[in-house]
Amino acid sequence: MKNNTNSKPLIIANTKSYIANLKSFYKLQDSIWQKLEKENYTYMCAVPSSLIYKIEKEEYRAFTVGAQNFETTENGAFTGANTFENILEAGARFVIVGHSETREMSDNDDLINLKVRKTISNNFTTILCVGEKERVGDVEYVDFIKNQLKQDLKNIDKNYISKLIIAYEPLWAIGAAKAATSDEAQEAIIIIRRTLVDMFGIDNAKKVKVIYGGSVDADNAKRFVSEATADGVLVGRACMDANKFAGIVNSLNSND
Ligand code: 13P
Repeated sequence: MKNNTNSKPLIIANTKSYIANLKSFYKLQDSIWQKLEKENYTYMCAVPSSLIYKIEKEEYRAFTVGAQNFETTENGAFTGANTFENILEAGARFVIVGHSETREMSDNDDLINLKVRKTISNNFTTILCVGEKERVGDVEYVDFIKNQLKQDLKNIDKNYISKLIIAYEPLWAIGAAKAATSDEAQEAIIIIRRTLVDMFGIDNAKKVKVIYGGSVDADNAKRFVSEATADGVLVGRACMDANKFAGIVNSLNSND
């Protein structure tokens, strides 16, 4: 199963905790907007939960606003934690779940599974991040990714599976000096798509988009879509630099 070359590439910015203040963030977005050549893409931007409400109200923005996480699936005595309903009320249109940085801080696969079940059963766009820590040997990393998917997607509501996006983010390529090669990314994307077919059947699996993240820049973004068959990219550092981010978007729009 390949990516759908007719659909617009997904470009998802993960601003992590890089936003210093909203004034500079809006300036950055204005600057990006001025540099964009065409509009044949889908731009989604994941911001800290505390900023969603204000950013969502800015009418000129060119992107869909989402959250980078929510901490608990239950209401209760969890000081400092956002629930799914909280990010929804704030105006989030999508959420990233299971990013390696939140896995490192707090999330395990059981909690991630509860989160994905919650968001998908609410027909809510969910970006689930999976990826191995290091690539040693041919078998280990394959099993690792399969297991992550099997645990994180256990018992999700297939009726809304089209709301699911899987981001392949190998930890060794995040915040690193170099991204995965096209072959490395393609191999993992094939494994992800096959696992989705095994779990949900081909018709459901086809509805799930698979994207790549980890040191994406203007020079390599295009090859993840054209060679590695990703449906788009998840961008960290480069989304905070107008030239770099616009370069990524424009490269994915170009026909060469
Ligand atoms: P970088 O693009 O900074 O490597 O970050 C990738 C990432 O973690 C996106 O979620």
